[in-house]
Amino acid sequence: MGARHPNPRLAKIHRSYSVEEAARLFSVHKNTVRSWLKQGLEPIDGQRPTLIRGQELRRYLVERRAGAKRPSGPGRIFCLPCRAPKVPALKMAECVAFGDTTGTLQGICPDCDRMIYRRVNLHKIDSIRGDLDVTFTQAEPRIEDTTMPNVNCDSTEGDYR
Ligand SMILES: [Zn+2]
Repeated sequence: MGARHPNPRLAKIHRSYSVEEAARLFSVHKNTVRSWLKQGLEPIDGQRPTLIRGQELRRYLVERRAGAKRPSGPGRIFCLPCRAPKVPALKMAECVAFGDTTGTLQGICPDCDRMIYRRVNLHKIDSIRGDLDVTFTQAEPRIEDTTMPNVNCDSTEGDYR
């Protein structure tokens, strides 16, 4: 049994499962089911002990599987609220470097309009960016740019008479 990728179809739609039953069904630890409950699996309201509808288990596991495809493919950034890898809006992304090797690729989720981020290794950016239009920026502005002396020294020769 693949405990890492529980098969959503094992859950019967018209049944309800306790945490223990769900754990047995998917061959996972009870704590795994409890962590699903914390991560968005909805139990039936007001039931003690906790009961989960089979249909809800299916929904959760299918979505979770879609989300488990991290790291996302080239040109995609994972959107947490949507639980899916997304091609950023307008295929535009900004790559913010935090040093020589690490940075984040960020864009806007086309479906929920939230900022989406992907931590990237800058040396691998060419294989990560896919066909995105990427703008590269530094996390901190460079001080050198603002300290250029503004001296005009080439205007003293010539025919000023
Ligand atoms: Zn989204």
